[in-house]
Amino acid sequence: MKNIIKPSVLTLFICSILMVIGCSGDNKPDASNENVNAQQTFKWKLVTSWPKNFPGLGKAPETFAQYVNEMSNGRLQVTVYGAGELVPAFEVFNSVSVGSAEMGHAGAYYWKGKIPAAPIFSAIPFGMNANEMNAWLHYGGGIELWRELYQPFGVIPFAGGNSGAQMAGWFRKEINSIEDIQGLKMRIPGLGGEVFKKVGGLPVTLSGGEIFTSLQSGAIDATEWVGPYNDLTFGLHKATTIYYHTPWHEPGTLLEFIVNQEAYEALPKDLQKIVEVATRAVNQDMLDEYTARNHASMIQLVQDHGVKVMSLPTDVIQALKIATKEVLANESAENDDFARIYAEYSKFYESVKNYHDLSEKDYYNNR
Ligand code: CA
Repeated sequence: MKNIIKPSVLTLFICSILMVIGCSGDNKPDASNENVNAQQTFKWKLVTSWPKNFPGLGKAPETFAQYVNEMSNGRLQVTVYGAGELVPAFEVFNSVSVGSAEMGHAGAYYWKGKIPAAPIFSAIPFGMNANEMNAWLHYGGGIELWRELYQPFGVIPFAGGNSGAQMAGWFRKEINSIEDIQGLKMRIPGLGGEVFKKVGGLPVTLSGGEIFTSLQSGAIDATEWVGPYNDLTFGLHKATTIYYHTPWHEPGTLLEFIVNQEAYEALPKDLQKIVEVATRAVNQDMLDEYTARNHASMIQLVQDHGVKVMSLPTDVIQALKIATKEVLANESAENDDFARIYAEYSKFYESVKNYHDLSEKDYYNNR
């Protein structure tokens, strides 16, 4: 590679000062790319678990690509592929790990079979909400634990958006007690699915593109997806009008950007910074958009489509809470990474929850 930059005496002086000082308190992924040509153009493929151009979740990778292409002045060109275009929805992690795509956008709980502790970095039933997750990741040591977890796979994770609290979902029949959950076949991924199984349900995993027809045909009895904005877009109200709001299984679901480590380290430092900052911007942008659109979509569902919005019965919520504790204890017993990371998560959660009881929750109750 031809080096077109001739360093001045001043540059060399600054570089040697930086080398002496080193970097401390900076949690960026490691990168050794001093010899990279700063004018080189890079082309990245970004594979996703969502249908192409899907609102909300699918908008995040498109916005990321746009930000990066513009901020780098075309030096890093990112092309987004929807689920199934290059790889199926659930092959995103493997594809980024082996480097057939440089980058992916998905949810960490999809990799539960491969990395049992991964779901901690998407959603824990009755766990942290969106603001609390962001706080833990970026100021509470969470992202460092996440990077350690993915390191053996040559994959670097970044926060990739948050849906906020998700709705309990769409049911073909009303749920009046825990008895109605017995044998109920529901599309519900991750730890929520494990908890659902513990209270007698039959969880199934389907990618977004398969949900509507499965619910409409009766192949499944119920499904969760995201919330009013995305659920309306999917037309789930055309399969059933019974919609349970009570958030429990995904109280603030984090999405992820994942980057192939070699591809990241091959970038000059300014492009690495652009990738990092663009993911951070998109992470917040998704929450802003859901916050803006969910309430408007809920009105549409109720007023224009006759959707009946209901609360889960108290005995169901209580059973789900008890089952959640058991599932988390089981997961911790079976996997050391899960135990270690969940202990850190819990420490932060307990403390932030106590403070939010005095602040956010108190305000919600009083306003
Ligand atoms: Ca969901």
